[in-house]
Amino acid sequence: MAASFSRQFGNILLRRARHVGLKTDPKCVKNTQIGCRNYVRPTSGNLQSQLSGTNINPRQDDKSQFVHYPLDILSEEEKMMKESVAKLASEKIEPLVRQMDENSMMEPSVLQALFENGLMGIEIESEYGGTNSSFMAAILVIEELAKIDPSISVLCDVQNTLVNNLFRKLGTPEQKEYYLSRLATNMIGSFCLSEPESGSDAFSLKTAAVKHGDYYILNGTKIWITNAEHAGVFVVMANANPTAGYKGITSFIVDKDTEGLSIGKKEDKLGIRASSTCPIHLDNVKVHESKILGQFGLGYRYAIDMLNEGRIGIGAQMLGLAEGCFNKTIPYTKERKQFGKPIGSFQSMQHQIAHVATQIEACRLLVYNAARRQEAGLPVVKEGAMAKLYASEVAALTTSKCIEWMGGVGFTKDYPIEKYYRDCKIGAIYEGTSNIQLNTIARCMEAE
Ligand SMILES: Cc1cc2nc3c(=O)[nH]c(=O)nc-3n(C[C@H](O)[C@H](O)[C@H](O)COP(=O)(O)OP(=O)(O)OC[C@H]3O[C@@H](n4cnc5c(N)ncnc54)[C@H](O)[C@@H]3O)c2cc1C
Repeated sequence: MAASFSRQFGNILLRRARHVGLKTDPKCVKNTQIGCRNYVRPTSGNLQSQLSGTNINPRQDDKSQFVHYPLDILSEEEKMMKESVAKLASEKIEPLVRQMDENSMMEPSVLQALFENGLMGIEIESEYGGTNSSFMAAILVIEELAKIDPSISVLCDVQNTLVNNLFRKLGTPEQKEYYLSRLATNMIGSFCLSEPESGSDAFSLKTAAVKHGDYYILNGTKIWITNAEHAGVFVVMANANPTAGYKGITSFIVDKDTEGLSIGKKEDKLGIRASSTCPIHLDNVKVHESKILGQFGLGYRYAIDMLNEGRIGIGAQMLGLAEGCFNKTIPYTKERKQFGKPIGSFQSMQHQIAHVATQIEACRLLVYNAARRQEAGLPVVKEGAMAKLYASEVAALTTSKCIEWMGGVGFTKDYPIEKYYRDCKIGAIYEGTSNIQLNTIARCMEAE
């Protein structure tokens, strides 16, 4: 199944470029790690014919270097992926959402469906059994899943945007062969940075890696680790040279069954309850030096880079959450009557609904733009931070308003709206709190 999904959506980006009549620049693709997707200008006839049947009329004057096209226009493959994930989510996930939330438990059938449909290895190359698709495709999947259940969305997000990409970009051929082939088909991964004493100030982490012969001995505690309950592999940031400060931070691959690694009690959370969040204890964990991921002392750099990218994923999760909540609320405003009229027909209601819809649209454009920039190999530090910050604010506003629009029933568990309201809070916390996103945006603006 994964293979057929992979064939269906593989090389989505190159085909997307062709879809809009753009030619990829081979020099550019060659010169970057995952392919800088810069586009050279197409011939107008080609572009026009590719866009015929749509209402797009791209501007092509002599001065323009690049053809710009609307951000929310998806290629056929992207549309197909979005639709098939929406179908999978409504058929296989939606019936289980309530019980997974109540029991704070991920149903095994959901994990199986994600793997079988190639959604846990979206960008992993087909030689490792992955879907061989694009970052944008991963973003669309995260968004679609979040419309139904933000817990499943974050499981998929951490796997694709953090763990898989660390292995894809940094792994040795042996590490890629072993881990990517498993991550694409049956292994869940966790990303372990946060500690009891180091949250926002992540690089003050205390987990130590001390060299003994060919091995490192890891000691410390990681907290808040997403997917920990089901993970087969943990990418652990530990300091192997504290005298160098944060430049001693190194990333280690630690398998679940390694002696000395134990998973602590699952957190009992306000929201995204089906997603497991646990502490990880490392007690004299022996890791061979061949299990360093990337270069010694560059762990801090990798964590920054991955989180810059990962934040676009959290933006997509919050976008999907807002859309899912909104879509489930609007029909009620058309059916529920007060004063002899549907409540959604009152102008004050319509204005609020229009206001929220506008903010969701703005959020979509920020998230998609950051994702398209990532694919193009352009900087995303500011754009990713803005997308995450704004999407978490829009999700909070949308869910709060949706409860109000539904009145008393919105406040009960008879409708899914209160769950979206609980689930959205995490968007302003993980992968950098909102204050940290604002710090990043301000720093980028200062440097501009
Ligand atoms: C459900 C969940 C899942 C998570 N998953 C993972 C995971 O998989 N892997 C992982 O490594 N971590 C994970 N985290 C950790 C998460 O990234 C941290 O919680 C987050 O970075 C904030 O750290 P903290 O909780 O220690 O808060 P603190 O850093 O203590 O922040 C508390 C408050 O102080 C503010 N603050 C702190 N410093 C500043 C500053 N310089 N300027 C302005 N305000 C500031 C913050 O904005 C916040 O409002 C997860 C957390 C949760 C809750």
